[in-house]
Amino acid sequence: MCSYQINQAIFYTKMGVKQRSKSLSTTDNKMSSTFYQLDVLNGKTLVDDQFEPFISKVGHTITPVKTAIFQINIGKLCNQTCAHCHVDAGPDKKVENMDRATLETCLQILKDHDIPTVDITGGAPEMNPHFRWFVEECTKLGKKVMNRCNLTIIMANPKYHDLPEFFAENKVHVVSSLPYFTKTRTDGQRGDGVFEDSIAALKRLNEVGYGVEGSGLMLDLVYNPSGAFLPGDQASLQSEFKSQLSRRYDITFNSLFAITNLPVSRFLDYLVETGNYSEYMTSLIDAFNPSTIDGLMCRNTLSVSWDGYIYDCDFNQMLDLKVASSTKHIKDFNMADLMTRKVVLNQHCYGCTAGAGSSCGGEIA
Ligand code: SF4
Ligand code: SF4
Repeated sequence: MCSYQINQAIFYTKMGVKQRSKSLSTTDNKMSSTFYQLDVLNGKTLVDDQFEPFISKVGHTITPVKTAIFQINIGKLCNQTCAHCHVDAGPDKKVENMDRATLETCLQILKDHDIPTVDITGGAPEMNPHFRWFVEECTKLGKKVMNRCNLTIIMANPKYHDLPEFFAENKVHVVSSLPYFTKTRTDGQRGDGVFEDSIAALKRLNEVGYGVEGSGLMLDLVYNPSGAFLPGDQASLQSEFKSQLSRRYDITFNSLFAITNLPVSRFLDYLVETGNYSEYMTSLIDAFNPSTIDGLMCRNTLSVSWDGYIYDCDFNQMLDLKVASSTKHIKDFNMADLMTRKVVLNQHCYGCTAGAGSSCGGEIA
């Protein structure tokens, strides 16, 4: 493996994890094409291995239940360029960001439908210029707002320093990534300096009451493995994170979600480049757990992209697998129509059904 590749703006750390300064798409990496990714996943290019189709492993179609979560990927602009990002987000993603008109259409849908939770993700959602207005409007509608915050954004620029207070005023449920409670593993996956800023941001969140018992302000952490392996047991990881973060930094939080890395975008690229693709897919398939199917997040979630298209989940969104429904865009939103759809499945779905399963809220089964 080469140690430095200028053409792809990446380098490898001692842990073998790829560090990037730019997204796949701005470096003309083939893996930025969703067609190419799907060809790789289906053994048509780059890799020889053919794996049993996910749909035949499941043995039946997957259908939705009542929509509980309206997840909006508000944009791909991010202050970080993490090695395993399935969104291919980064500071260079300035175009793919939701505009005010599209957010207004989302608000109208939320007004018209009994969908209790709005889950805002990105990129770094806070970098969208309409973020604060949108959160306030959702709060006025009585919706529960979740925000997927990468933590470092709070420390990145003085204009974001008051985010903890803003979140608290709007009772936003903050869900934050923290790959590990040590600098080496966190910076190895997410970039130099990320751990230090994440700890500083967690302290700021604790100061305003987030993750503090009795405050009602929810702060959950997301753990995902730093390489080509499945996450450990969620309860054990939570207890380890709680005791280590408390002992080392006096930080508290509510729950930890253990999430499996799905073979999509930069993580798929990482698997192929490091020669781990076949082994990883085999481990996902060997760990297939049918009892995860009922709880798959694609059943109770609708995922909306920055340009208003509708998907079964954020992963399908990144593979441009739009919903199998005549309602494909929020401008034509028809809930009755969407409820009759079959979820679009492909080989990446093995990541959601391995072991205890995986969703944006962690384990399923
Ligand atoms: S912080 Fe999140 S969205 Fe941003 S690059 Fe990292 S994984 Fe992707
Ligand atoms: S990747 Fe999406 S569509 Fe596939 S099983 Fe997971 S949540 Fe469902």
